[in-house]
Amino acid sequence: MASQLTARPSDVPLENLYNLLEPITVPPEKAHFTNWGLSFTCTPATIFEPENEFHCELVLELARREGKTVRVAGVGHSPSDLACTNEFMLRTTKLNRVLEVNTEKRYVVAQPGIILHDLHAQLAKNNLAMSSVGSISDQTLGGVVATATHGSGVNYGVISTSVMALSLLLADGSRVTCSRNEHPDLFLASICGIGTTGIILSIQMEVEPAFRLREVQQSFPFDEVIERLDKHAFSAEHVRFWWFPSRDVIRASYSNRTDEPKNPAGSWWWHTFLGHHVIQFLLFLGRYFVFLNTWIANFACWLVSGDSTGVDDSYKIFNVDCRYPQFTTEWAVPYENTQACLREFRDYLRKEYQDPHGIRPHFPVEIRFSASDDIWLSPSSGHLTTWIGIVQYKPYGFNVPYRKLFQDFEDILFRHQGKPHWAKAHRLQPDSLRKLYPRFDDFRAVIDRVDPQGIFRNEYVQRHILGMPIDPRFFKKRP
Ligand SMILES: Cc1cc2nc3c(=O)[nH]c(=O)nc-3n(C[C@H](O)[C@H](O)[C@H](O)COP(=O)(O)OP(=O)(O)OC[C@H]3O[C@@H](n4cnc5c(N)ncnc54)[C@H](O)[C@@H]3O)c2cc1C
Repeated sequence: MASQLTARPSDVPLENLYNLLEPITVPPEKAHFTNWGLSFTCTPATIFEPENEFHCELVLELARREGKTVRVAGVGHSPSDLACTNEFMLRTTKLNRVLEVNTEKRYVVAQPGIILHDLHAQLAKNNLAMSSVGSISDQTLGGVVATATHGSGVNYGVISTSVMALSLLLADGSRVTCSRNEHPDLFLASICGIGTTGIILSIQMEVEPAFRLREVQQSFPFDEVIERLDKHAFSAEHVRFWWFPSRDVIRASYSNRTDEPKNPAGSWWWHTFLGHHVIQFLLFLGRYFVFLNTWIANFACWLVSGDSTGVDDSYKIFNVDCRYPQFTTEWAVPYENTQACLREFRDYLRKEYQDPHGIRPHFPVEIRFSASDDIWLSPSSGHLTTWIGIVQYKPYGFNVPYRKLFQDFEDILFRHQGKPHWAKAHRLQPDSLRKLYPRFDDFRAVIDRVDPQGIFRNEYVQRHILGMPIDPRFFKKRP
């Protein structure tokens, strides 16, 4: 056994390869995958949970010998079939260690499977923190980097912009370190690479001294915020909006770094009991009595209507309650198109509300910002960006209608040069994506070079990056 652990994977006889992989193989009866939103599901031929880099090499070796593809997955929070496969799945959750913390140079090196919550805790011990975080910290760092996950702030890029270097295991079993100086093409393709360039084995990421945020929340009429968008969006380091179209109200959140002591806002009764549990029950009723959804949206808007101020650790302010499993879609539009885009969407929703049989959407519409970057497939590449997202919850996991609303929303966003979030389901094909991303063909060239056999290409990648006719509902929970 000892000699096999030091052997090259290609020299290990097949029988021994199976034996070596056995301890990291998920038992077949448990080898199912469903994403967090309960919208996509698959049954991989085998799920592996490697505990070290050599295990990853062995999985790749077996895949090569058996002619299988390998889908790397984090914890399946992507609201699409991005992580799905019926072939080999390599789940990174046991590759979850912090490898180095450099407080002086302010960076951390971590394995890709670390959950952001754990990373925040480890960074806090060293008085450090991530500069920007999205709405949750339940995802893996690898998943965040591979999809250009973002927080909000006109001067803060998507989280991938903090990545300094990656260590990758390529399809041929070789390892490579890439950064802006070393293999820059591979680096700029991989930091929003949706799992296609190789297995990310470690991530070096810039961080900053730990900080608290002071968040002020206020509600305004839609027109007040949209007519004076610059004033609002640029008025704090991290600004985000939650729009309740049924009331035409925008709840605005403005956060700045502060030295003030912690003083969290909100109460369990108000935010958890009413804002989470009661709302879920009401949304469940709304499945049967559709008119209720408008009333529930108004109630949710009222619950958060008072001005509030809170001070807490950065990541606790960045994170919010995203409630329950859900259908969701989010698109990035150039900042200068924000007002026109939101007004067109408001006109659309107004017509729906006026129609007795029209759509009664869930809430809120989330509006966030990220700085321009140069990452090839980052939806923020080339311009200051506004992210606009909608959601249809699945109360207690039950289905709700969403397809017409999402299709109409996507058509509007597309008309305003919108680009879909890579982690979320969308309908764009290479012909459209190529026009939106000037480096789209460079990305294709890199993945053809580093993975000529397409070992890392699942159905999502085949459909959206290669343009193959793969049914978008292939992995749908309800076909
Ligand atoms: C409730 C909720 C809130 C969210 N909030 C935000 C938000 O605020 N902002 C935002 O931008 N997004 C948000 N997302 C989206 C989320 O950040 C992404 O879907 C993220 O990819 C999920 O990470 P994961 O660990 O679940 O990855 P998975 O969904 O399992 O995988 C995502 C992708 O990452 C690739 N990948 C993962 N690990 C590796 C690796 N080691 N090497 C190579 N490729 C890898 C996979 O191949 C796949 O393509 C949210 C999602 C949910 C469900």
